[in-house]
Amino acid sequence: MARYLIDHVFTRELLAFYGNLILQFASVLLLIMLCPTVLQAKSLEQEGGIFQLNDDVLSIFYSVKAGQSNLKEGNIQIGEPNMGYGVLTIEKSDRIKSVSLVKNQGLLSLLTENSISNKDAYAVVKILYEHFNVNAIPAGKAFQLTFDEQLRFQSIGVKLAFAESLEVKRSGQKFIVVKNKSPTTLKKYYVEGEIVGSLYASCLRLGLNNGALAKLNEILSYEIDFQREVRSGDRFSIFYSTLRDDVEGDEVFHEIYFAKVTLKNDSVSLYHYEDSETGMVDYLDPRGKSSRSFLIKTPLKNARLSSYYGRRKHPVLGYTRMHKGLDFGAPSGMPILATGDGTIERASYFGSFGNYIRISHKSGVQTIYAHLKGYAKGIKTGVKVEQGQVIGYLGATGRVKGRHLHYEIHKNGKAVDPLRLDLPASSRLSGESLERYYEFIETVDEAIKAYKAQEE
Ligand SMILES: [Zn+2]
Repeated sequence: MARYLIDHVFTRELLAFYGNLILQFASVLLLIMLCPTVLQAKSLEQEGGIFQLNDDVLSIFYSVKAGQSNLKEGNIQIGEPNMGYGVLTIEKSDRIKSVSLVKNQGLLSLLTENSISNKDAYAVVKILYEHFNVNAIPAGKAFQLTFDEQLRFQSIGVKLAFAESLEVKRSGQKFIVVKNKSPTTLKKYYVEGEIVGSLYASCLRLGLNNGALAKLNEILSYEIDFQREVRSGDRFSIFYSTLRDDVEGDEVFHEIYFAKVTLKNDSVSLYHYEDSETGMVDYLDPRGKSSRSFLIKTPLKNARLSSYYGRRKHPVLGYTRMHKGLDFGAPSGMPILATGDGTIERASYFGSFGNYIRISHKSGVQTIYAHLKGYAKGIKTGVKVEQGQVIGYLGATGRVKGRHLHYEIHKNGKAVDPLRLDLPASSRLSGESLERYYEFIETVDEAIKAYKAQEE
């Protein structure tokens, strides 16, 4: 009788019957749900149908052979052995698992540890190996494992990049690979506020993520010296977007459309502009001038300006002489950046300057970097470098008291004060391009206005 019932478990009438059974076993289920033990389903000869109780619990009804009353293992509960049925529950957590590697653990061992047979684990790792370097997976990397209602291993999923994942799943006798791309949604944000502490910390408080902050730093670094010009009380506003993975829910930075920083005596506004006719993409000020200036303001990120251009008492020699550049204090080994596009004129030891780099730029401008600990790979005479490229590392070579970077700018062969230098912009829109740009910035301003109105 029991066998008959179970064979037809999916028929409509019996659903009602099993519904009653569920009530009967409700107390048992409750107990089971509270203690998620790993189920050893393979030891059972499961013959029954499947009921989805809710999202988290799956129940399997199965028949019990006459006389077998000791089938108690894990989550398995016997109803009435003599009546010939039982109920088995498998929690969602048993069927869908998120697992991750611990330090020095291999993927193979992670899989076999999670009740996947050696054969399956080996087959899966072999396939995964074709798609990414299985030997270089960092500890903590998460994998999703799924099992069927008999707890037989079905698939392994792993995130490859934002909104991109790879799944290796069982298909008949073998495993196949499926690459998944999640749909994404562009989300726009507008934030404005007062700088308290640093611009970085203030933006972080308003929810900008690291990607957005890095971009902000990059586009503003041509215009603003963050450490010396930005003060608490200055104001800023940023209009930006993110992409959200609609499946996983995570968000990554996408683009900054507009950024404005109002300093005590100055204000910097930049619009992200793509010219439809010329294909040019850049950050421009409201008059169409590129934010990428000829030279970036400082050759180091996060450095302290320790000595200015001008006459001073020399720290080693003791007498007063002209200091022809700026000194920046920073930890030893800090990367030093080329402040503009150019060609290396010299990259070698040079007397009291120690390890020394001189770059020749357009318009008769040269920049000099001295006391370096060493040179970046490939930096030698005649090599072309780009603005922002790492050329060397801060050190204390030559005639110095302590580690620092000595930085000079020469114009037509003469040293000039880097802080007072007015260099040409790398580019500026004109004519029809400028007309199109003016129309474009109006649409951005309108979009911001609309966003603000909607927020109020
Ligand atoms: Zn110096």
